[in-house]
Amino acid sequence: MTSTRHDGDTWDPTSSVGATATLAAVARAIASREGPVDDPFAEPLVKAVGIDLLTRLATGEMAPGDLVGRSAIDGAKVRTKFYDDFFRNAANAGIRQIVILASGLDSRAYRLPWPSGTVVYEVDQPQVAEFKTRTLAAYVPTAERRVAAVDLRDDWAAALRETGFDPGQPTAWSAEGLLGYLPPEAQDRLLDTVTELSADGSRVATESRPNPRPGDDETTKKSLDRISERWRAHGFDLDHARLRYFGERNEAAPYLTGLGWEIHGTSVRELFAACGLPLADDDLRMGGVHYVSGTR
Ligand code: SAM
Repeated sequence: MTSTRHDGDTWDPTSSVGATATLAAVARAIASREGPVDDPFAEPLVKAVGIDLLTRLATGEMAPGDLVGRSAIDGAKVRTKFYDDFFRNAANAGIRQIVILASGLDSRAYRLPWPSGTVVYEVDQPQVAEFKTRTLAAYVPTAERRVAAVDLRDDWAAALRETGFDPGQPTAWSAEGLLGYLPPEAQDRLLDTVTELSADGSRVATESRPNPRPGDDETTKKSLDRISERWRAHGFDLDHARLRYFGERNEAAPYLTGLGWEIHGTSVRELFAACGLPLADDDLRMGGVHYVSGTR
């Protein structure tokens, strides 16, 4: 299942970039057994994807070992808490319109205690979005959930409006685990569009990765190749290094600042430290990534 990215490529939760959503849910399922993260939907979603190895990891039948390393499990805890806190704070500030970009197998529309009147829009590729709708059909979302099944390199704003999104209302936006899978110019367009659709009082949260120094990308690719090799040895063939776009791009935090957002960020290293978690191996340069949020 060697994947090469190209314009207009598509996937489902078993393939290409879609499988990264499933892997994120595997890490959340494992993290949920350790706490304090509690995503009860991660395990059933992974099971429904139907890849036996991932099911065994998500259910705990198989130990994570070096397939889902300590930093991936702890990373899931830190990241889930960051975005959960962001949305709780937005809800407490009165925002009732939520947009989760690249929602993947995220279950916030089913598990966060949204105030009544909240509408949660989820945006992801059709086969990913529809898989979740189908799989969680027996559960009642904790907000009104609406889905825009569309590619984020296309005119997703139109699809979002068609589902009822109101640019006149303040919105809390998240783009979690997304930007590296977009070509640099698509990232800029996405942040431009978020800004254009944001009424006063809107908020945004995402990750801002520092641009690579010479040699950084090669180190990261080698680490990703080692990760792909480990999975391949267990029969799961996903070429992690070829799913992302490398090289220079506008860093999200200063780019958003330039668009008029007031942005604050905390590095993953600091977030780990604040949770008392060690960030041991950091070949993927996660520590320097900043989780950022801002208001407009
Ligand atoms: N935000 C989720 C989470 O943290 O669990 C999913 C993160 S997963 C690493 C990346 C997600 O981005 C996948 O769900 C994938 O389908 C979505 N994605 C990446 N590029 C996309 C695109 N061009 N259009 C729509 N969705 C995209």
